[in-house]
Amino acid sequence: MSVKMDHLLEELQRILRPDQVSTNPTILEHHSKDESYHTGSSPDIVVFPEESEEVSAIVKVADATETPIIPFGLGSSLEGHVIPYERGITIDFSEMNKVVEVREKDFLVTVQPGVTRSKLNKELKKYGLFFTVDPGADATLGGMAATNASGTTSVKYGVMTDQVHDLEVVTPNGDIIHTGNLAQKSSSGYDLNSLYVGSEGTLGCITELTLKVYGIPEHIMAARVSFPTIDDAVEAVVSILQAGVPIARVELVDEASIRQVNRFSETDYKEKATLFLEFHGNEPGLKHDVAFTEEIVQDHQCEEILFEKDTAARTKLWEARHNLAYAYIHGNPGRKLMVTDVCVPISELAGAIRHGREKIEALDFEAGIVGHVGDGNYHALLMIDTENPDELQKAEQFNKEIVDYALARGGTCTGEHGVGSGKMKYLEQEHGQALQVMESIKAALDPKGLMNPNKLIAKKGV
Ligand SMILES: Cc1cc2nc3c(=O)[nH]c(=O)nc-3n(C[C@H](O)[C@H](O)[C@H](O)COP(=O)(O)OP(=O)(O)OC[C@H]3O[C@@H](n4cnc5c(N)ncnc54)[C@H](O)[C@@H]3O)c2cc1C
Repeated sequence: MSVKMDHLLEELQRILRPDQVSTNPTILEHHSKDESYHTGSSPDIVVFPEESEEVSAIVKVADATETPIIPFGLGSSLEGHVIPYERGITIDFSEMNKVVEVREKDFLVTVQPGVTRSKLNKELKKYGLFFTVDPGADATLGGMAATNASGTTSVKYGVMTDQVHDLEVVTPNGDIIHTGNLAQKSSSGYDLNSLYVGSEGTLGCITELTLKVYGIPEHIMAARVSFPTIDDAVEAVVSILQAGVPIARVELVDEASIRQVNRFSETDYKEKATLFLEFHGNEPGLKHDVAFTEEIVQDHQCEEILFEKDTAARTKLWEARHNLAYAYIHGNPGRKLMVTDVCVPISELAGAIRHGREKIEALDFEAGIVGHVGDGNYHALLMIDTENPDELQKAEQFNKEIVDYALARGGTCTGEHGVGSGKMKYLEQEHGQALQVMESIKAALDPKGLMNPNKLIAKKGV
């Protein structure tokens, strides 16, 4: 072990208990990767703080010793976000997992960053409340804020940034700041909540979050609607949205992905392009929304519409949707999953998915399209052999083509997964000169470049 590492360990052991500091090879390996196809790289040390003050002390040690810091939630991100390519200290937030306060009258909850979305919803259920954002993985709220995550319900309730009232952040020099407040709205100063949401650990560590929550809807109805073609399904979505139906979830699952679902989740869903829908509301409102949606989907050649009224059937439907990535992984042993996402204006969605579908058909490995189509967001899932340079190159080329298509139509290179290291190459094309503003913010707030280095904002000269 080098003298610098010895000194770093000593300093960390001075502020944390021995069981909170690890150089165990298995722990290092666990923190060397995310859930993507990107190549891993180990940190030097992993720490497990329990309080904000401990995070502040860790960051001060890193600042003094010029050591990179990588915040780590669950490690479910998909673009190499948590991979410590420059080694350093990974801060694992799994021990900061308390629901601090439920302010039911204000529809607010305060949590530590390592609380997962399912743990939060279990707690909120006691109050008749729920938290809306649901990325497929059971991610942490800190990781979800840091990636501006969204999920199946964002079409109705919005994405992470819409839920954040306040963040407690440990800045790169170890100060502890608050970025917002508990009020319903504020015009006071720069919107620091929005700056830190989506900052991917590059500007500081989120150590507490105050988030908006909602009353559990009085009535919920889910449906599965299958169509002869993916075009019909997407056009039906556009019509549903344009008609102003307050749909709570609308997910596209293409034919190839329905086959994976059936195999993995032991369902017998019709193997056609399918929409998974959900409606939230009171009984009369729900009846009206469902009837109107039925009319719209009939106009788009819907082949079958099946309603899932009881909780068990609904849970099975959404579990099948959330397990889709794992269905692909399970169905293609020895291959790695590349999931890429782009987002376009709703009016461009049908064209974007048609384009993506055509490109997928030209590939000679398993791939499919799914998406939070109500947001104009679709994902392509590609099962690649990462040892095969030809397949890797084809997958990267496919990624580039769908990003180019989205950007040319006013869209974005990622609707929800974020930039990490995988999508940095598209930022200049998407943001032009605004990228320089982002680089200036990074340089001002993290002048030593220690916070999750070379993610989101490229390090100069790299
Ligand atoms: C099967 C599957 C399905 C998915 N579906 C979706 C989806 O529908 N929608 C979606 O948005 N994403 C989806 N994702 C991606 C992923 O789940 C999200 O990006 C999630 O928000 C990451 O949370 P995490 O806790 O795993 O964070 P991590 O992966 O641990 O970290 C993500 C980023 O946040 C930073 N970070 C983590 N904690 C903190 C903190 N406390 N302070 C500062 N920075 C921090 C990390 O440094 C990193 O840059 C999916 C992933 C998988 C594997």
